[in-house]
Amino acid sequence: MNNPTIAAISTPMSAGAIGLVRMSGPDAKAIAASVFRPIGKRTIQNVPGFSAIYGHVMDGSEPVDEVVVYVYTAPRSYTGEDVVEFSCHGGPWLLSRVLRLLLDHGAVPAQAGEFTKRAFLSGKMDLTQAEAVMDLISASGADASRAAMAAREGALSRKTQAVCADLTLLAAHMSAWVDYPDDEIEELTDTHLEETLSRCAGELRHLLDTFDTGKILREGIPTAIVGRPNVGKSTLMNLLAGYDRSIVTDIPGTTRDIVEETVRLPGGLVLNIADTAGLRTTDDPVEAIGVTRARGKLEQSSLVLAVLDGSAPLSDEDRELVLSLRERPAVAILNKSDLGQSGDEDWVRQQLTHCVTLSAREGTGLAELDTAVREALSLGAVDPSAPMLANERQRGCVRRACSAVEEALDAQRMGMTMDAVNICIDEALEALLELDGRQVTDAVVDEVFANFCVGK
Ligand code: GDP
Ligand code: ZN
Repeated sequence: MNNPTIAAISTPMSAGAIGLVRMSGPDAKAIAASVFRPIGKRTIQNVPGFSAIYGHVMDGSEPVDEVVVYVYTAPRSYTGEDVVEFSCHGGPWLLSRVLRLLLDHGAVPAQAGEFTKRAFLSGKMDLTQAEAVMDLISASGADASRAAMAAREGALSRKTQAVCADLTLLAAHMSAWVDYPDDEIEELTDTHLEETLSRCAGELRHLLDTFDTGKILREGIPTAIVGRPNVGKSTLMNLLAGYDRSIVTDIPGTTRDIVEETVRLPGGLVLNIADTAGLRTTDDPVEAIGVTRARGKLEQSSLVLAVLDGSAPLSDEDRELVLSLRERPAVAILNKSDLGQSGDEDWVRQQLTHCVTLSAREGTGLAELDTAVREALSLGAVDPSAPMLANERQRGCVRRACSAVEEALDAQRMGMTMDAVNICIDEALEALLELDGRQVTDAVVDEVFANFCVGK
């Protein structure tokens, strides 16, 4: 193994208090030592295991920056190689200069995701754990980061490796029995075979079901906020978004176009909310366009928040809206609770299972809204730290494995030979080994890491 030593700036290229330049590879310590002058007796070459040393990055005799250098000795580092990190002052120009010095002294620029790729190649993490690093960085809410953290710790691969182990045992047993039928190898009973295959198929199907939930946690729920003008849609949206994004006025029909915003509910759910023009018939042509778009948004969304003014009697339009939502995931929001209740709440609750009373102006009732949304989307029981498929690649592998196991089950039930069953099991194993990267082509690996940013 003769990997070049790679270097990159690992923090964003905008001014910050601290910026990190990272280097990994067999020459990392030597290259670092040639541009670093420690203050004190500890040097990059003489410190033990992992250490931090204070000193200066030097360009010849000129001090470039005052830094803390972190030294990690192979194999106890992120990549499994010698790693040296320069914790510099976070100016983009300064960081570029430090990086350039390292390149001048023999390091090569790291490719996107190359540090994590090396960690994978040296066995520090499997492929699903590497993918979780990226999901962790892009996590936009508490549930998303919890899910990524669980995957980072191997929740998904532990699950699929358990299925792998079951299938491998079956396969081994079957080939032994096929090869040495006269020896005293206990015959695999049909029931045992069928039970194991059914259990594996069930677990793989269950994993496939987690994909949609995972997507919701990662990317947020496409949500439309609808309701008559002036019921408080924009106020609610602003409250959730934490700042004034929509124009709030008391002239009906102000929100003419669609305002989209990613907001977080108190429990951590992320909603991609479109605040739409009020759904009403209008003679104003501009507003009419808004209303048409609002209906379009409504069709595309996975969740509808129907806002009503709970302090005033419901209009016919309000009732029509509520009735139109009975067949889909929706939450009725009786707003303006600070002004009292009109008494139509019972009717709304009879029509829609999920209904909350809140005041967008006062900011009360949001926790109830979070609960209602989870219930409306049947997310109540979702445990973000359970094994979950995080991307299309993983889903593809599990899908292949699942259909191969189902095929094996069919073959067995139809009374086909052990060989035929075994071929299907092999196929399933192949797909599962690809999932965690234990057996994977370079092309797949390259594709996974191409999506990373440089420096990670
Ligand atoms: P939209 O047309 O549905 O987007 O309604 P807006 O958010 O623009 O609000 C219309 C008016 O209702 C504004 O004057 C808001 O301040 C007011 N409003 C919104 N929510 C509440 C609330 O919870 N309580 C009270 N008292 N007024 C509210
Ligand atoms: Zn509005």
